[in-house]
Amino acid sequence: MIETDLVVIGAGPAGCSAAIYAVRAGIKTVIAGGAVPGGQLLQTSDIENYAGFVDPVGGFEMMDNMHKQCKRLGVEFTADEIVKLEGEKTPFILTCADGKQYKAAAVVVATGAKARWLGLPEEEKFKGHGLSACATCDGFFMRGKTVCIVGGGNTAFEDALFLAQFCPQVYLIHRRDAFRADQVTVEKVKNTPNIQLVLNSVPVEIIGTDAVEGVRVKNVKTGVTTDIACSGLFVAVGAVPQTEFLKDSLVALSDSGLVLADERTHTTVEGVFAAGDCADKYYRQAIIAAGTGAKAGIEAAAFINLHR
Ligand SMILES: Cc1cc2nc3c(=O)[nH]c(=O)nc-3n(C[C@H](O)[C@H](O)[C@H](O)COP(=O)(O)OP(=O)(O)OC[C@H]3O[C@@H](n4cnc5c(N)ncnc54)[C@H](O)[C@@H]3O)c2cc1C
Repeated sequence: MIETDLVVIGAGPAGCSAAIYAVRAGIKTVIAGGAVPGGQLLQTSDIENYAGFVDPVGGFEMMDNMHKQCKRLGVEFTADEIVKLEGEKTPFILTCADGKQYKAAAVVVATGAKARWLGLPEEEKFKGHGLSACATCDGFFMRGKTVCIVGGGNTAFEDALFLAQFCPQVYLIHRRDAFRADQVTVEKVKNTPNIQLVLNSVPVEIIGTDAVEGVRVKNVKTGVTTDIACSGLFVAVGAVPQTEFLKDSLVALSDSGLVLADERTHTTVEGVFAAGDCADKYYRQAIIAAGTGAKAGIEAAAFINLHR
């Protein structure tokens, strides 16, 4: 059993920021980063919306810098994957996939989320080449081009309105003709001339050679397929928080698996904090993950100092 003050689970922007704030407050901090530490930003090559970088920065470069910064400050960096969190109050026992265990006075959960994709065979090939699960992140690269969005919830509708500001034509593809999105947002979309709804339809193929050139959609009522020419395909069908390992713990989760945390990142278990996409219903952006991570690091340090 390895004893430490704080275990931060996750080595994305949220986990790294939490660790940076905690270690600088004199807290002995371990990051359990999982097999591929770095998180979702490793999947993207150009980040343009993280303040402080004049030119676009690659996801790998940004995460490599965060990891180096953590190590320089004295954070112990591991590739441990946490499979279990036990304890109703401090100290907590964390079990890793290889059986190793940590005893920690406090825990920050920063395990992120995974985008839900469509399950089409061509998806891997086109990710980063016109296919994206994040319009806020990648929409700007599509200015002046025709794009499609898939989904029927608030995210898809808000993405459509966002993209319609700088894309001449936006198609919103939805498998039904009823929507989960708020009525007000639906009305706004319907009243935006360059957004066209493609209803009762599902994408069955992404068309293109090296990058997205179009999408083939099938009408689920008639069976008829149609090709829509576009340069970008945005999938907005939800994200899966990486919180499965908390199912048997006392940390409360929402129906969709998000960690329930208050504005100071406190979860339902005193001494367990949550930050970033694993607890974020709305934004899922790196800078926000880093911001909530900083909050969690500050809160965890205060908690540990109080219980020493
Ligand atoms: C393709 C793509 C492009 C994007 N582009 C942008 C952009 O341009 N700008 C922007 O602001 N945002 C962008 N985002 C969103 C951004 O990546 C996320 O909001 C951000 O990474 C969330 O940070 P996080 O630390 O909460 O989670 P993540 O980055 O997902 O990191 C989670 C970490 O937890 C680890 N982990 C998970 N489970 C366990 C476990 N059980 N044990 C140990 N470790 C575990 C993972 O290995 C990982 O290290 C993009 C996302 C994607 C997918």
